[in-house]
Amino acid sequence: MLDTRTLGRQPGTSRRETLRVPAPADFGVEMVGVPAGAQIELDLLLEAVLEGVLVSGTARVPLEGECARCLDPISSAFEADFQELFVYSDTRSGGNAEDDELRLEDDLIDLEPVLRDAVVLALPLSPLCRDDCPGLCAECGVRLADVGPDHHHDVADPRWAALKDLTGGGLAPNAAPGSSSGGSGGERPRGPFDPREGKQEG
Ligand SMILES: [Zn+2]
Ligand SMILES: [Zn+2]
Repeated sequence: MLDTRTLGRQPGTSRRETLRVPAPADFGVEMVGVPAGAQIELDLLLEAVLEGVLVSGTARVPLEGECARCLDPISSAFEADFQELFVYSDTRSGGNAEDDELRLEDDLIDLEPVLRDAVVLALPLSPLCRDDCPGLCAECGVRLADVGPDHHHDVADPRWAALKDLTGGGLAPNAAPGSSSGGSGGERPRGPFDPREGKQEG
């Protein structure tokens, strides 16, 4: 909560403020977020305008999470800019007030929803420990960053081995049906499958 009473309501007056607030719980996305209670640093500019208080600022937060590729812990920082207008609760903004407009409650500003929008919505859903994180080996799960690019497995993929058995062992005679030699003659052998029967239905 931010008190704006000292700002007054004279349009044009402004005040700069630097704040440190503890992060609320659940301030993040699935794989990365701000630890609850960690310090959020706020540089704010409050400006009184006709219908309320315009708040612009920068939020700096610490981040902790997991790399989406190699699951290494990540800790970094994040900075987000925001700007929101908080409308005086006892004034109507000309009848065209929107439902989602932010309002001052007793000259107090609740910055948490603004910070959520500015920070949480901007967090990466798939954070990486570094941009070119190679992730984990699909075979053995080792971190490829640890073992280097030469890491590989000589064992052939069992799926390919199975495929080899199929093609190598049994190129079956069913690949060439009957004795269709050339097709120059007009006579077709009367087999169980006569193409003319199929055409009748159409
Ligand atoms: Zn990683
Ligand atoms: Zn491996």
